[in-house]
Amino acid sequence: MGRAVLEGGGSALDAVCACVTVLEDDPVFNAGRGAALTAVGSAELDASVITGDGRAGAVAVSRYAKNPVLLARKIMEETEHVLLISPDIELVRSLGAESAEPDYFVTNARQLQLANVRAKLAPESRHGTVGAVAVDVRGFVAAATSTGGMVNQSAGRVGDTPLIGSGSYARDGFVAVSCTGDGEAFMQGVVAHEIYARVRFAGARLSDAVVETIVSELDKRQATGGVIAVGADRRVVIAHNSPEMFAAYEEGGELVTLT
Ligand code: ASP
Repeated sequence: MGRAVLEGGGSALDAVCACVTVLEDDPVFNAGRGAALTAVGSAELDASVITGDGRAGAVAVSRYAKNPVLLARKIMEETEHVLLISPDIELVRSLGAESAEPDYFVTNARQLQLANVRAKLAPESRHGTVGAVAVDVRGFVAAATSTGGMVNQSAGRVGDTPLIGSGSYARDGFVAVSCTGDGEAFMQGVVAHEIYARVRFAGARLSDAVVETIVSELDKRQATGGVIAVGADRRVVIAHNSPEMFAAYEEGGELVTLT
């Protein structure tokens, strides 16, 4: 999906939004329809987009946008704001984003998962966020990230995904980053920006920047998660200290796995 956009000369922003939209629509992933549910059984979705020229848009506690990532893009492009919290359905529509009723996002599988977690029959899952990073033919980068947050999280809890610099970051000439995992640690460690800062100001190789950030900001907090990143040289870094993380990449990938 993203590949076709890029091969057609599309922007990195178009590519990452195309990828994340597909993942949001697939109920298997913790984003959009089929996202993790809060303690009261609601789907409260977070998403962000950021382009390497320094623009960003994000939504937290989204209930009515069919694709939160596309609403985040509308917020970036159609408003003077970066982050909106819990926009109502009229605002979603007025921004030109497709709307959906809250029930659309809630699946039987997620309701069963929540019931099991609340009955202490299953662990509280803190993973499954989706994201994409890309460099386009002109060398511009972008990142997009979308999530339902953590299973059984408090209603109203906001994670790292809509916080620019924590769950995502991008800067032309350096890197685009998208994160998944224990959001509180990503927020406390400002993980995505930390990776960028190590590349830009310490001259670190991207793979080293990612690994060192996971060690210093996640391991230190006994937190788990993972990062996908792409550098200005188009090399991809996929790294995680969680037991597993699903990721796919185009040619030129450099796989770094921490367990
Ligand atoms: N990072 C997300 C959050 O804390 C959870 C995830 O990655 O699945 O909201």
